[in-house]
Amino acid sequence: MKEKIWLSSPHLSGEEQKYVKEAFDTNWVAPLGPNVNGFEKEICDYTGAKSCSVLSSGTAAIHLALIILGIKEGDEVLCSTFTFSATVNPIRYEKAIPIFIDSEKDTWNMCPELLEKAILDRIANGTKPKAIVIVHLYGMPSKMNELMAVSRKYNIPIIEDAAEAIGSTFDGKAMGTFGEIGVYSFNGNKIITTSGGGAMVSNEEEYCKKATFLATQARDQAPHYQHSHIGYNYRMSNICAGIGRGQMEVLNERVTARRRNFEFYKKKLEGIKEISFVNEPEGFYSNRWLTAILTDSYDTREKIRISLENEQIESRPLWKPMHMQPIFLTYPAYLNDVSENLFERGLCLPSGSNLTSNDLERVVRAISNSLK
Ligand SMILES: *Cc1c(COP(=O)(O)O)cnc(C)c1O
Repeated sequence: MKEKIWLSSPHLSGEEQKYVKEAFDTNWVAPLGPNVNGFEKEICDYTGAKSCSVLSSGTAAIHLALIILGIKEGDEVLCSTFTFSATVNPIRYEKAIPIFIDSEKDTWNMCPELLEKAILDRIANGTKPKAIVIVHLYGMPSKMNELMAVSRKYNIPIIEDAAEAIGSTFDGKAMGTFGEIGVYSFNGNKIITTSGGGAMVSNEEEYCKKATFLATQARDQAPHYQHSHIGYNYRMSNICAGIGRGQMEVLNERVTARRRNFEFYKKKLEGIKEISFVNEPEGFYSNRWLTAILTDSYDTREKIRISLENEQIESRPLWKPMHMQPIFLTYPAYLNDVSENLFERGLCLPSGSNLTSNDLERVVRAISNSLK
């Protein structure tokens, strides 16, 4: 039996145990402590964000971001359709209405023109959307100049779902630091992991302070337990934060390794006429969390995917757009076919920073053979 090659598995540095041991030795086994504070500071230093709150997941961070921006029942929230469901679910936790926006072809992220068209249409219908949730998919930055211009023109704040994009930049500035609030994920499959976890960053220090407050059950200042807000148990533990600190030490190496995977696949596969890749536009720097290929048809995509599966190699079709998901079918969507087409023809290849050159060769060989 061949050894399984995973899509994206955790890749520890060894340094994590130093921080975790320290937490045990000092009995800081709680959702607060020196690692929590240290991890927050290191995320700020790395991204250039003014403030950070580390949380139990990226999903929790998106949820709190919506609450902090005042999203309430019945409010409309514009949201990328081409994403993972965790971008959208928190909109529904607050009983707000997701309005799905399709992608453009250069980055696969939210199309700025379609976003503006949707805003004008919603306003004409009598409701002005309250927030925009954009996603930097597979680590590729969105078209920030254009999206920020629309956000400013209509005065609608942007939440950046940068769950897949820590380490990516646009014009040298970290993804997650353009909008009002940015979100990172440290789930096991992401570019760095805390086993499970997330973070909110913002240049508005009040936002992250409020996130920490809401994430620790919204306790008012008082000797007894006093509450004037609904609270959540969303804080990251000092143990997980220790893992995160060890991972921060190697984040740049992980980005380099993932980008090397992309370059390897591109070099070996771009000669195959059925396969193409998306390049970074000028000024865009992707962490290449996952390398995705685009094939010429659904049939080719499936042929490759099934051949890889038979070779014990995990691959996955691109995200199924949210407007096509049974649970979200009834919400308004502004579409241009881009995401549906990507879903039909795209495939994510094994992309872990811990893949060996043998692993990568095995993937390339299986793909080449499948199309012979
Ligand atoms: C992983 C991911 C999330 C959710 O992060 P968790 O930490 O798993 O809750 C949200 N959005 C996108 C685009 C993701 O890839």
